[in-house]
Amino acid sequence: MSIRIDNISKRFGKTEVLRSVSLEFTEREFITLVGPSGCGKTTLLRILSGLETPSSGEIWHDDKAIGHLAPGARDIAMVFQSYALYPHMDVFHNIAYGLRVRGTPAEEIRQRVEEAARVLEIAHLLHRKPRELSGGQRQRVALGRAMVRRPWLFLLDEPLSNLDAKLRVTMRSELKRVHRALETTTVYVTHDQLEAMTMSDRIAVMDGGYVQQFATPEEIYGHPANLFVAGFIGSPPMNFLSGVAAAEGGLRIAGSPATVLPVARMDRFAEAPLGPKLVAGIRPQDIALSLAPVEGALEGEAQMVQLLGPEKLVEVSAGGRTLSVIVDADVAVKPGQRSWMTFDPSRLHLFDADTQANVLPAPGLQHESLPRR
Ligand code: ATP
Repeated sequence: MSIRIDNISKRFGKTEVLRSVSLEFTEREFITLVGPSGCGKTTLLRILSGLETPSSGEIWHDDKAIGHLAPGARDIAMVFQSYALYPHMDVFHNIAYGLRVRGTPAEEIRQRVEEAARVLEIAHLLHRKPRELSGGQRQRVALGRAMVRRPWLFLLDEPLSNLDAKLRVTMRSELKRVHRALETTTVYVTHDQLEAMTMSDRIAVMDGGYVQQFATPEEIYGHPANLFVAGFIGSPPMNFLSGVAAAEGGLRIAGSPATVLPVARMDRFAEAPLGPKLVAGIRPQDIALSLAPVEGALEGEAQMVQLLGPEKLVEVSAGGRTLSVIVDADVAVKPGQRSWMTFDPSRLHLFDADTQANVLPAPGLQHESLPRR
């Protein structure tokens, strides 16, 4: 079984909301659409469900075009941000509602509702009304209502955004557990990159109506396709250093004074098209901070220090820039202290300032596939 979103574009009047979006995924995958507000992720989900029609393009379910089918004919279940439970019905009847409307026999309804309630661990709540439930329990009822229909595709639109922070974390693993139990292909929409990273088999990072990258969480974190993805995924965000060019012994950062990033000229840099307009990216977790001088390190001064729990976030100014660095909580760094930063060259990212694209080969890619300088 496969689902292919083929060159979908959507305009509302003059506004282009989706631009030639193509994605393909297979049975049992948990796919997340993530991106900032307004990037088009809900619109894409609504097009999959049939609630919205694309301006152009097609949706394929295996070799069947389904883009023209009405929502009811697609056999897809969608769970929205607002659970919209019927307040006067108990949990059993809320979950059963869709089946009753379709005329499913009473005994089958009972079996399906009980099975869903067991998977969702709400079997003891079947006789309660929605007002007698917590937010997380209401969310499970909404999921149960979708599950009993046994759809071939689940569409979930920010289903956790009404829950408090702690419950969101619990429900994240609950949703994964339910997904493993049901093995139903799922498309999940969120603006929360951490949710996307923790739950998904593959993530489509969207911005401005485009899919910027579609890959596994590891690939997206380890090798972001462009500057947008690099800045959006990961917390605290990646540091960017503009005006970087190849130099003897490393990468030279423009500025006063010009700084040479102490990066050994490893193979991956040697074969990359190192033009004059480069932006280097390094995650705060990938910078080593020393409070004693280190030869060849980038010297700076600690500005802000925030304790995050097991770690500290340190902002270090160096050569007119500020870099965020994550250190262990027991590192005794204070504002005003001199500090020395070194970079693991295998963790450095390089982007073309004009095209915004990552210019380094993805790990595992053969260097021969890249144009030589
Ligand atoms: P959010 O996280 O805020 O829900 P999103 O990425 O899901 O954002 P969409 O809801 O898909 O974004 O909306 C994308 C753009 O399309 C927005 O600029 C929105 O204002 C616009 N839009 C969505 N629906 C309509 C509509 N029915 N008519 C006109 N414009 C619309």
